[in-house]
Parts: sequence; C-alpha cells; structure tokens
Amino acid sequence: MLSLEKKHWHDLTDKESIDALETDAIRGLTSDQVYERQKCFGFNQLSVKQQKSNFRLFFSQFNQPLIYILLAATLITLLLKEWVDASVIFGVVLVNAIIGFMQERKAIKAIAALANAMNYEATVIRNGQKRQIAIQQLVPGDLVLLQSGDKVPADLRLLHSRDLYIDESSLTGESVPVAKNTALLPTESMLVDQHNMAFSTSLVTYGVGKGVVVTTGDATEIGKINALLARTTKLQTPLLKKMEKFSQALLWVILLLAGMTFLFGIMHGESWLDMFMAAVALAVGAIPEGLPAAMTITLGIGVARMAQRNAIIRKLPAVETLGSTTVICSDKTGTLTQNQMTVARIVAAGIEYEVTGAGYTPHGKVHFQGETADLTKNKALSQCLKAGVLCNEARLFQKESSWCIEGDPTEAALIVSANKGGLDHEVLHSDHPRCDAIPFESEYQYMATVHHHESEDTHLVYLKGSVESILSRCQSMLDDSGHEQPLNTKLIEQQMKQLAAQGMRVLAFACTEHEVALGAIGHDHVAEQLVFLGLQGMIDPPRKEVIESIQQCHTAGISVKMITGDHGVTALAIAKQIGLFTSVSQHNVMMGTEIQQLDDQQLIAKVQQVSVFARIAPEQKLRLVEALQAQGEVVAMTGDGVNDAPALKQADIGVAMGREGTEVAKEAADMVLTDDNFSSIVSAVQEGRGIYDNLIKFISWTLPTNVGEGLVILMAVLLGTTLPILPVQILWINMTTAICLGLMLAFEPKEQGIMIRPPRIPNSPILGKQLILRIIIVSVLLVLSAFWLFHQTLADSGNVAKAHTMAVNVFVFGEMLYLFNCRKLYVSPVFTTLLGNPWLMFGALFMTGLQVLYTYWAPMQMIFHSAPLTWLDWGYIMCAAIIIFLAVSLEKLLYKSEVATKF
Ligand code: ADP
Ligand code: MG
Repeated sequence: MLSLEKKHWHDLTDKESIDALETDAIRGLTSDQVYERQKCFGFNQLSVKQQKSNFRLFFSQFNQPLIYILLAATLITLLLKEWVDASVIFGVVLVNAIIGFMQERKAIKAIAALANAMNYEATVIRNGQKRQIAIQQLVPGDLVLLQSGDKVPADLRLLHSRDLYIDESSLTGESVPVAKNTALLPTESMLVDQHNMAFSTSLVTYGVGKGVVVTTGDATEIGKINALLARTTKLQTPLLKKMEKFSQALLWVILLLAGMTFLFGIMHGESWLDMFMAAVALAVGAIPEGLPAAMTITLGIGVARMAQRNAIIRKLPAVETLGSTTVICSDKTGTLTQNQMTVARIVAAGIEYEVTGAGYTPHGKVHFQGETADLTKNKALSQCLKAGVLCNEARLFQKESSWCIEGDPTEAALIVSANKGGLDHEVLHSDHPRCDAIPFESEYQYMATVHHHESEDTHLVYLKGSVESILSRCQSMLDDSGHEQPLNTKLIEQQMKQLAAQGMRVLAFACTEHEVALGAIGHDHVAEQLVFLGLQGMIDPPRKEVIESIQQCHTAGISVKMITGDHGVTALAIAKQIGLFTSVSQHNVMMGTEIQQLDDQQLIAKVQQVSVFARIAPEQKLRLVEALQAQGEVVAMTGDGVNDAPALKQADIGVAMGREGTEVAKEAADMVLTDDNFSSIVSAVQEGRGIYDNLIKFISWTLPTNVGEGLVILMAVLLGTTLPILPVQILWINMTTAICLGLMLAFEPKEQGIMIRPPRIPNSPILGKQLILRIIIVSVLLVLSAFWLFHQTLADSGNVAKAHTMAVNVFVFGEMLYLFNCRKLYVSPVFTTLLGNPWLMFGALFMTGLQVLYTYWAPMQMIFHSAPLTWLDWGYIMCAAIIIFLAVSLEKLLYKSEVATKF
C-alpha cells in the first residue's frame, strides 16, 4: 500500500514524485489503484468544522440588550417573590432564544447548502484517458490537467507548465498571480516560493499545466488552515445593517423613555415596583424584538427561492441589490442563446455548402445545390473540415443511443459537421497526433494546434478563430482543387457577413507548416503567411424564454445590453430575434474598437444609448460597467472567463455561469446561474424585489404595533391612570403576535405588479412618506381604541381584569387585521387576496385560538389576569379592528393617485 510519509514534494524531481506516488506520468492511475486509494485516503474534501457549536449559538441569543433588560426584570421580580411575573418574563426570554436559535441555524444551513449546490469538476487522466470527474473523487497519484480559469482541486506537484500562472491569494494573501514551472527546488523553500507546486483552491489565471496529486482533503495546505470553512457566514445586508443601527438608536430612546416613566411615576407617588414593571413593559412593548428574526428568515426564504429558480447567491447583500438593478449586461452565447451549436453553412473555395441535420447527432449531408460534396474532389472543403476536427478540444461520443459532447459546443459542432461531410474524427486524431497547441483565449480570438507531419523537420499547424483574426494572418487561400490562390479578402468578408446576418456564429480556418527547429509554438509563429481554408457558420438558436424575460425587463424599467465577443452582424441579428431593441432607432452596435477610441467621459455619454456591444474584450467589460455606474445605474453583469473577473467584481451584481463558467469567474461573482440562462437573472431580480417588499412589509407591520404598545403605557403613566395593559400582558401580545402573525409575512408571495414598477432607487429611505403616515394612523388608532374600551368596560362593569382583557384583544385583533392590509404595500386588499397566503391564514387562526384560551381558560386567566368576555364585548373589539383595517385601506386608496404617478 502506498504510504505518504513524505512532508515535501518540491524537492523531488518529476520522476521521483511519480515513483513515490506509484503512478504513471502518461496513463495515470488505473481504476483498481483509484479504488484502493479512495478506501485508504477518503474523499478529497475538507471536513466540515462547525463554526459555532449549537450550544454557543443558543447562548449567543441571550447576548442582546433587550434580553439583558428582561433578565434583570426576571431577577428583580424573583427577589420580590412575584413568581408568576418572573416565570412569564423568563418564559418570554426562553421562547425568544429558542426561536432565534432555530431561525439562525436554519438560515446558516440554507446558506451553507448553497456552497454545495455548486459542484466542480477536475480534468484527470486515468487509464490513459482524459476524463472530467467531481473533485471529491481525486486521490493521491491522479494526474490532473489545469487550464486558465480552473480552481486547483488538490495539492499538486507540477509535471508540465506552459505559461502557467496561479492566483494563490486564498492561501498566501499574495494578490499577484505566481508564475509556475516544474524546476526542482531546495528543501527549505517556503510555501510561497514553491513554484513547482499548485495548491488546492488556488486559481489558474493563465496558461495550462499538468500535475500529479500529492495530497487531498484535510492533508492539503488549505486543509491545514481550513480557512475556507472558518470564514464565517455573515447574515448581513445593507438593509439589515441599517435596521440594526435604527434598532440601536431606538433602544436608547426607549430606555430613556422607560427611565423617565419610572421616575415620573414614582414622583407621583406610585409604588416603585409598579413603576419598574411599567418601565419594563414599555421597553419590551416598544422594542421591535421580532425584527432581526423576521429579517433573517425573510432573507433565508428568499435565497432558497432564488436557488430554486437556478440563481445561487454567493454574497448575501446581492439579494437586496438585485431588487434595484437597472441594467443587465448579458453575454450572448449560452446566456441569451442556447449554446446548441449546429454548423449550417460551410464556405470553402468560394462555394457555399449547406449542411443538413440538427443537434449533435452526426447524421446529415454537406451539399451544394442538391449535390452531395465529395471530399476527394472538393479539396478546400476537406481541409476546412479537417482543421475543424484537429484544432479542437471538445469530445463527441455516443452514450446509450444519444450523442453527447464534452467541452465547448462551438468546437463540438465542428466535429459533427466533419462527420456529416464524411470524415471520421477518431481516425483523423490517430493519424495526426497533436504535439503542441496555443489554447483559445478571448483576447486573441483564435486557437492553433500543431500535428505530426510525414517529414521530420516540419509540423502541420491548424488554426481556427474569428474571421478577422484569421484573415489578418493569411496570405493565400485554397481553391477547390487544393491549390493556393491569392487571398480575396473582400469576397470572404462579404460571404461572412451574409452568414452573420442570419445570426450565425462564423469561424474561419487556416493552416501552415511549423519548422520543428522553432520549438514550442507561439503567437509569433502564426502571425502571417497562413493559407486560408474556409468558413463554417453555425446557428445557435435564442433561448425561447429569453424573449419574454426581456419583455419583462422592459416593463420593469430595466434595460438589457448584450455584450459579446462575437461579430457585430451576428450580434445584431440575434438581438433582433430576441426583441432586445425597444425602437428601430436603436438598431446599432458599438464595436470594441470604437470603445477603444473613446475616453472615459465620451464612453459615459454614449453607453446608455447602445444596446449591443460586439467584439468586446474582457477588459472592456470593466470599462462598460464603470461607465454605466457613473450614470447612476445599478449594473448586473454576466461573465464566464478568467478575464471577466474584474468586471464581475466591479458590477453591483456579478453573475457567473455555473456550467460553462470558469471557477475564477464564479469566485468573483455575487451570484451563479446553475443553468447559464438569462431568464434566471430576471427571475432573481423578481425575487429580489419580492424579498425587499417583504422586509418592508414586516417593518411596516411591526412598527405600529410597537409604537402603539409603548404609547399605551407611556400615556397611562403620564396621565396617572391605571395601565390599560399590564406588563405581563404586553409580553404576551408581543411574543405571540410577532411569531403567529408577523413572521408569516416572510412567506408572502410576490405581488403581481412587481415587474411593472421601476427599480427601487438605491439608498432611498426605507420607509417613504406614505408608510410613515400609515404607521402613525395605525398606532394612534390602536392606542385610542384600547384606552377607550378599557375605560368604558371599567366604568360599566367595575371589573379591571375584564377591562384589561378588552384592551389586550383590541391590540391582538387590530394587529391581525392590519396584517392582512400589510400583504400588499400599496393596493387595498380585495377579499380574494385575503386567502392568498395559507401561512398567514393559519397564523391568524392559531392566534385566535390562543386568544380564546387567554380569555376563557382558567390557568391563563390566573397568569395573565384575564377575564371572560361577552359576545357584545367581542363585537366592540372587532369594530375597533375593522376600523383600523378600513382606515388603512382608505389611506391606500387616497394615496393611490400619487403611487400611480410614481409607478
Ligand atoms: P462570446 O461572447 O460569443 O462567447 P467569445 O469571446 O467566446 O465570444 O468568442 C469570440 C470569438 O472568438 C467568436 O466570435 C469566435 O469567432 C471565436 N471563437 C470562439 N470560440 C472559439 C474557439 N473555441 N476556438 C477558436 N475561436 C473561437
Ligand atoms: Mg464564449
């Protein structure tokens, strides 16, 4: 059995490492070895360290100023032998802690689950074959291929490196990517100097490489630190921060008021115990203790809803920012379109061939005017197809009865077209083994591969890429009989535009020879004198649902911009197909070259008018984001490549592609789309608006409740009358209504008109004038009706307990009916909407049940000093509640005109 006692790997040669790991530098491990090692070393994953034990999480719930007050109150009432009050108050503390604990744990779990929702894969060589596997499956001895954009899946000793640069900031804090090579290093080299190693979780920012896994899971360097998981999940967003500040300020005001009430009462000859309890009641009533829990659970539910709609939130503040998004900048390929590439046209030696068949099934024909192409005669076509297969990283294979691909769909489509033309890709590959390559990078817009040639001193080089990048390197073109002719750039460009105008993505192909003496191939070696072979135009149908999503954005006041590396004509055609333009006057495209000529001010002035940006280099995405932001826009920007990372970070919402995107892009993003679909961004925006609404709804429900409760006590003490609601009763109301009523708002579905109003203005005050007015109306009505009914009942019956019970029920039912009003922020509830949220109905019913017990059940009557009511009494209570309900409905109606103009 393999034993890995060894501490260092950087001071071993390639061969020594390979031998020590008992693996094969070319073929990798065998299935048996993998099986053995998985048993021995376990999965390649970090063991989860619990950030906070449940015990600590529970006790942290007591660490709040409000709870200190309540604990002090418990203690004092205990000392005074007020057993009932003491246990009620302590009961409240306990319930509060339990609920807070459960919610926080749930939210933390929901967010931690998001991390697992994104699984990532590594490219390995096992049994001599290249395969993609989940990183958990890796074992020491596995050969891993790295390319720019990858996250290093385990600790590797590098065996091959080509311009390999790795960002190790997660490990060393060093922000500049480190150049890697395979050279032997002295034993005493520090981690940061171990340039022949690649460490788990660091990011490949450039180049390609190959390494052998030396350690996995907790044995890796990152595993030793386990920094990844120690990073605490913070449940924090701008709104939560604002509310926290607000609550803190409120707390001091309330404590001050409570203190004053206490002193005032004592000066007026009240007993100090009564006054202490009144002060506690005031504090408890007025402090919105349900607020943090409600916020957390609303966010948690929102994040889960977004995940269901294929948008994984990586940074929590994004949940809120999403709701105020004003511009979505989206990639074209794969996000707006299906990324289901099918070659439909081939142009070679001036002849335009049609290709039949759809999808990746290689069944179809390449024909010209009804006549099937013959590769032995149509030499240029043959070369063009061959270049497509050889200059290619993708894989086409049959799984059961269907054809599947691995890799870039653009490339897979080329294998399919060659098969349709009569070439066998497997035979081609074995006849022309590859010896070197320049990988595709968006900046260069082409890739090249070098293949063995019969003669020893030259190699065959195939290139494919954008038409511009290839044509500028060509000197001649192949004619139908395979002879070189002078290059007709005009004609080729014209043919290309014809294809692009139909929305096709067009690739150009070329070839040349490479002298072996020149060594490894570089960009310089293919800069000129190539032979042009032909064009292949592929269709990539727009995603159907995108058309509707774009429509939705337009009505929601969100503009959509397409940002693509593809050709302008192709981009324009697709933009028209998906309804990106709102008017004909917008039918223009800005090219990357134009942007290059504009300075920042000029770009800022123009950026809002343009909807399609083509041939954009990743660095230009950053400029576009900045220009849009300078215009006050809140920008969501998509990206997938390594070079998109800066733009993703700069954007208010960086959106990475979960499927096609690189790990680097995902790491930089705020949100990851599991289906790479534009429509998922729009869904997330919609959810974001809904979540924000729900937070506001809760705030506008809870505040009048708290203000009302506080005011009742304050007024009674100031007026020197009996308290209409006793301290224990206030506690009862507060806890039960916050849980049974308020929390149910978190489950509130989105309002229907949510995508017809314009985006929320960032940094606008949480509560607008209308909501503030509403809060005042409700608080005042609650206080007045409680006071009035209390004194009325007292005067009529002389029964204080009954009078208290009236006041308490006024509060509870007033809040309950008001809750239904809070379901819609600005629309008066029609009676059908009363039924829309089952949670809320359930909460209201449960609350009613509790109040019946509170009023009629002897033990409750004993604890809370309550007394039974008559039907008539209930009539009064319901009248008060209905008046509050109607008042708010009326306010909404009257305000409606103003809202209507606002939206
Ligand atoms: P997009 O925004 O459409 O994803 P890319 O940056 O991926 O744009 O591609 C830009 C251009 O580079 C494409 O129009 C195409 O001509 C070319 N291209 C794309 N993928 C490849 C590839 N795998 N090999 C060679 N050229 C490619
Ligand atoms: Mg692309």
